[in-house]
Amino acid sequence: MALVSVLLPYAFDAAFTYEAREAPPPPGAVVTVPLGRRIVHGVVWDDVPEPGIAPARLKTLHAVIATPALPGPLRRFIDWVAQYTMAPRGEVLALALKTGLLDPPAPRAGWAAGAAPSGRITATRQRVLDALATLDRPTTAELAAAAGTGAAVVRGLADAGLLRPAVRDPSVPLPDPDHAPPALSAAQEEAATALRASVAARRFEVTLLEGVTGAGKTEVFCEAVAACLREGRQALVLVPEIALSAQFAARFAARFGAAPALWHSGLTPATRRANYHAVASGAAKLVLGARSALFLPFADPGLIVVDEEHEAAYKQEDGVTYHARDMAVVRGRISGCAVILASATPSLESAVNAEAGRYRHITLAARHGGARLPAIEAIDLRAAPPARGRFLSPVLAGALETTLEGGGQAMLFLNRRGYAPLTLCRGCGHRLTCPNCTAWLVEHRRPGHLLCHHCGHAAQVPAKCPDCAAEQSFVPIGPGVERIAEEVAELFPAARTILMASDAITTAEQAEAALRAIVAHEIDLVIGTQMIAKGWHFPDLVLVGVVDADLGLGGGDLRAGERSAQLLHQVAGRAGRGRLPGRVLLQTYAPEHPVMRALIGNDLAGFRRAEADLRAPGHWPPFGRLAALIVSADEAATADAAAAALARTQPRDGVQVLGPAPAPFAMLRGRHRRRLLLRAPRGIAVQPVLRAWLDRARAEGLPRAARIDIDIDPISFL
Ligand SMILES: [Zn+2]
Ligand SMILES: [Zn+2]
Repeated sequence: MALVSVLLPYAFDAAFTYEAREAPPPPGAVVTVPLGRRIVHGVVWDDVPEPGIAPARLKTLHAVIATPALPGPLRRFIDWVAQYTMAPRGEVLALALKTGLLDPPAPRAGWAAGAAPSGRITATRQRVLDALATLDRPTTAELAAAAGTGAAVVRGLADAGLLRPAVRDPSVPLPDPDHAPPALSAAQEEAATALRASVAARRFEVTLLEGVTGAGKTEVFCEAVAACLREGRQALVLVPEIALSAQFAARFAARFGAAPALWHSGLTPATRRANYHAVASGAAKLVLGARSALFLPFADPGLIVVDEEHEAAYKQEDGVTYHARDMAVVRGRISGCAVILASATPSLESAVNAEAGRYRHITLAARHGGARLPAIEAIDLRAAPPARGRFLSPVLAGALETTLEGGGQAMLFLNRRGYAPLTLCRGCGHRLTCPNCTAWLVEHRRPGHLLCHHCGHAAQVPAKCPDCAAEQSFVPIGPGVERIAEEVAELFPAARTILMASDAITTAEQAEAALRAIVAHEIDLVIGTQMIAKGWHFPDLVLVGVVDADLGLGGGDLRAGERSAQLLHQVAGRAGRGRLPGRVLLQTYAPEHPVMRALIGNDLAGFRRAEADLRAPGHWPPFGRLAALIVSADEAATADAAAAALARTQPRDGVQVLGPAPAPFAMLRGRHRRRLLLRAPRGIAVQPVLRAWLDRARAEGLPRAARIDIDIDPISFL
C-alpha cells in the first residue's frame, strides 16, 4: 500500500494523504480524490504523506487524469507564494489548476482540396475552392466566411468529393527570432547585447530596463525574447492591462512572424485550453499575458519580462493578494531564468534594488529615431482659471484650438470615469452617497444614472431631495471624462473625438479598433482616463492636456506622490513620439509641488531620491516592510470588537502597529471595515510575526463573525 499527498484547490493549507491502490503517481500529477461525499480534482504534492492514519479513515485515490503534470518549479512557486502571502496553499493552487482546462484541446475538423473538378462548376463553388487555396485546413465556417457563402455550399463540395476532411492540430505558430529584426540605435544595441547575454546564461538574473517614454524599450526586450527563442526556451511577457495586449500581440507578430499565445481572462474557453496545453508541452514559445500567466505550467521558461513594472495593476487585490512583479522575480529565481523589469518610471522598489546591486540596471536615456521628449509646462489655475461651469483653462483651450487648426492630434487626460464625481443638492448641500459603501455616487450620462464605482449600486437622481424636499435641486459637481467630452463638443464641434474609458471601451476588440482609428489619425482629439496613459504609441499626437494634475496627490497614501508622478509622466510621454515635437500642459493649483517640478524639469530620478530620503528614516517601503490587516464584519460592533482584540494582542518587539482605524472606505459592499498596519524593518520577516499575533488574538476571543484579510506589501490603503 502506497500513500500520496494531494493538495486540493480549496482553502486548505495542508495536503491530504490518500492511499494509492496501484503505483503511486509522481508529484505534479493531476488526480481525482474523494473529499467528503464529492470527487474533486487535486495535484499530487511533494509533502511527506501522513503515516499512521487508521485504515478506516484512509480514503483511496480515485483516478489519475491524463493531462500535463504541474512541473516542480511551479509547485515550489505555489508553496512560496502561499507562504509569503499567508494564503492557504490550496487557494494558490486554484490559480494554477482550472478543471475546465485539463482535457486536451480537440483537433479541429477542417477541409483540404479533394478531387479536381471535372467539367464546369458554379462561380460560388469556384470561390470556395479559391478561398481554400489561401487557408490552412479551414473549418466549414471559416471556409464559408472566406468565400462569402453559406455552409451548404461547402458541404455540397464535400459531397461531390471536391473537398476532403483534414484534421488541424490546435497548435500555436512558431515565432521566428530572425523574422524581422529591427534597426537598433547604438544605445539600444548595447542594451540588447547585455540582455541577450543574460538570457543565454540560462540562470536567474534580474535586469531593470529603464528607458524614457519612446526610447524603444519594447524593441530592446524583444531582442531578449529572440535570444530566448534561439535557446529553444519559452518567454513570458506580462502586461498590466488586457487592453494593451492587442497592440503588443501585433508588434510581436510583426517582429517574430507569428502571434504570441495569449493568456488573460478575455479568451474563449477553447483558446484558453489550447494555449494552456501548448504552454505545458513547450510548443508555445512566446506567451503574452496578464499576471495570472505566472501560474501556467511552463515546460522550459527561459525569460520573464514585466512591462510597465511600476504599474499598480500588477497587484492582485482580491483572493490571494500578490504583486505580480515581485512574484515574477520569485518565479524567475525558482525556474533559474532571466527576468526583465521594464519601465520609463521605475518603482522606488525596483530602483532601490538596482542601486543596491541586487538588480542590473540598464538605462535608455534618449528617444528612439531622433524624436525629442515633449516640453512640459504647468498651467496655474489660480492665474488662468476656467470660465464658470467649465473645466478647461483658456490657456489649454487655446492650445487645443491651435493644434486642431494646424491639423495636429491632441489628447485630454482626466483620471476619472463618468460625468461628475459628486451630485449635490443646491438647497441643503445633501450629497448622494452609496448605501453600501463610504463613497459618493458617480453620475454617468451614457446609461443615464448614478453608479457606485465600488459595489456597482445604481440609482436615479431623485426628483426630490430626501433631506430638504426641494424639487429638481441636484447638480453635478466637478468633472469626469464624460463632462470634459461635453465641453469639448461645445468648444470644438467639428473635431472628431473619442472617449477612452473602461466603461466606454470594454473589450480588447474595441480597444484595438479605437487604437487603429487614432493611429490612422481618423480622430483629432482623444479624451480618456488612465486607460490611455500607458504603452500606446500614437505617432501624430502632439498635444497632451492634463485636466486635473493634482487629482492623485490627495488621500495621504504612502505612494500618492510617486504614483502621480509615474502616471503623469506616462501620459506626457504619449506626446511627440513621431516626427513632430510634443507639448504637455498640466492644469494645477500647485505648480510648485515636487511632483509638478519633477515633471516639468524631467527629473524623475531626482524625485525618486527625494522620495527615498523621506521614506528611509521611518522604515517605510522599500526600506521596511508593511502588512495590512483588514477587519470586516456585517455589524460595526463586531468589527470594532475584532479590531480591539487585535490591538490588545499586538506584537511589540522591533515592529510597530498603526491603528486600528476605520478604513477610508469604512463601509464597503455593505461590510464595516477597520484597518491595522504592521510596519517592520527590512530584516524582519513579517509572516511569523503575523501568525503569532493572530494566534494570540484568537486565544483572546477574536469574534468569529469578523473576517481578517491580510495584505502583505499593501499598495492600496482604502
Ligand atoms: Zn436638499
Ligand atoms: Zn457601493
